[in-house]
Parts: sequence; C-alpha cells; structure tokens
Amino acid sequence: MNVHDPAVKKSAEAELADAPQGDACHPMFTNVPSSVGFNKLRKRLLRQARQAIAEFGMVGGGRTPRWLVALSGGKDSYGLLAILLDLKWRGLLPVDLIACNLDQGQPNFPKHILPEFLERNGVPHRIEYQDTYSIVTDKLSENSTYCSLCSRLRRGHLYRIAREEGCDALVLGHHREDILETLFMNLFHGGRLAAMPPKLLNDERDVMVLRPLAFCAEDDLAKFAEAMAFPIIPCDLCGSQDGLQRNAMKAMIADIERRMPGRKEAMIRALTNVRPSHLMDRQIFDFAGLDQLAQPPEEKTK
Ligand code: SF4
Repeated sequence: MNVHDPAVKKSAEAELADAPQGDACHPMFTNVPSSVGFNKLRKRLLRQARQAIAEFGMVGGGRTPRWLVALSGGKDSYGLLAILLDLKWRGLLPVDLIACNLDQGQPNFPKHILPEFLERNGVPHRIEYQDTYSIVTDKLSENSTYCSLCSRLRRGHLYRIAREEGCDALVLGHHREDILETLFMNLFHGGRLAAMPPKLLNDERDVMVLRPLAFCAEDDLAKFAEAMAFPIIPCDLCGSQDGLQRNAMKAMIADIERRMPGRKEAMIRALTNVRPSHLMDRQIFDFAGLDQLAQPPEEKTK
C-alpha cells in the first residue's frame, strides 16, 4: 500500500470519519480547542500516523500487540502518545499502549511532571530512573557532545524495559524532518544513502522499533503540542548541544522548503520510491547480471 496513493488517503480519511467523535474522546482531549483549525490539524496527524502504521505493517497479526511508547517530555513524544491514544480510542489501533519515561539523571530534571501528566490522563505507564548522565559525563570530556553515547545508553534501557513489560515494539516520536535530517547527515557526512526507517528490528531481533510519525511535519507537531498545552520538559537540561551538523542540515532543509515549497514532501516521497537500478550500489542491484537479460542481436531483428 502506498501512502501517496489517493485511494489510501481516502480510505484512512473515511475510517477517521466513521470512528467515534465528539464527547467520546480520550480524557487527554477533553479540554482541547474546538476550532476548525485544531480539528483539521488533529485529523491530519491522525491520518498520517494511521497511514504510516498501515503502509509499514506496524500492527502484525496474531495476539494484540503491546507497544512501549517512549515519552521524553518533548513536544514530539507527547504528540506521539496523544495520537496513538486517539487512534486507539476511535477503535483504529488494536494495540495495548504503555508510556515509558527514562529519567536519565540530567541535572534539574523535573521528576514530577510526567508521572502527574500520565496519572491525570489515565495512561498506563512506567517511569524508570537510570543515571546514564553520570556515565556519559565520566566517559567523555567536557567539550564532547554527549548525544551519541547518551542515545545509545537510553536505547539499551528502553529495549530492556520493552522486554520486561512484554512489549513487542518500542515506539518513538521521530517525524518527517528527523528522517530528512538523518538522510542528509548520512549523505553529506557518512557517505551512504540511508535515512531513519519507520520500522526496524533490533539486533537481538526481539523488539521492533516503530516510528508512526514518519509522515508528520514537525511544525504540525509543534502546533499540536501548543494547542494541547502539554507540560513540555526542555530538552537542553543536560547542557549538551546536539550535533552542529544536524542543526546545519535542519537549516538547509528549511531553506530549501522556503524557496521551493513542497520539497520536504517530495523528498519523503522519494524515500518510498527507490530505484536500485538507477543508483550505484552493486550490493542491491546486479549490474553484471544485466548481460543475462540482454537480448542477443539476432533475436531483436526477428
Ligand atoms: S541532548 Fe542531552 S539528553 Fe538529549 S540525547 Fe543529547 S545528551 Fe542525551
């Protein structure tokens, strides 16, 4: 199923229209704005998440899957949780959800915000404290950027928690812009053509990593977080700067979009429409084997 196929878009819209509306909403949506603008934004995010879930086969068959939804306290992870709960509430996501925050011991991390938010909204959750911050600051010099090691340690703990909670998948709030920035980081600095997959199996092959917001725009998630009045936890508490390279990619992509609107969509579409025969990777396309397919000259003239 292709997300850019108008028929797919229409069927996701039809499903949303048929799903329960109005007062029948998850408690998280009780006091949201009733404006047309907000409703359109909410529906767009729901439709895009629903399409990513369908297109990349995130909900397998068999028993009801159980997803561990990583909640950092940033706008994207709050948006992810709200969108998944909304889809589930409407009967469009047959999955058990458990939110998880890993408190990594960053100085001044406001420990009360997430448990209070989750309890207030009746969301099953697990809060875990693991002081990876001290490990990172012990191992790296003050001038290093911490993010790479910090993320690896976090991911390891989240996999473990997913196993302990009997979850099939770890669900992350990465969105369209995260994917495009990673694409250009790999292209410009890594010498490889790769982005951030919407669905990935971990090395141990026991936890799937899912990114249902792969088609959602960061701007939409920011507007959604503001309208929903999520209690955002600032992401710079650790004092580390995320890579300057990533920020440069973000600025470059934003500049391209400003000068030629619609390019972000086109680039995401390109990632779903790859022609190995028109690239140069012999691992994924057998250029030498083309000779076997070529017709001998005498056959052409018959
Ligand atoms: S910004 Fe801080 S908490 Fe976030 S990944 Fe980087 S080091 Fe870790």
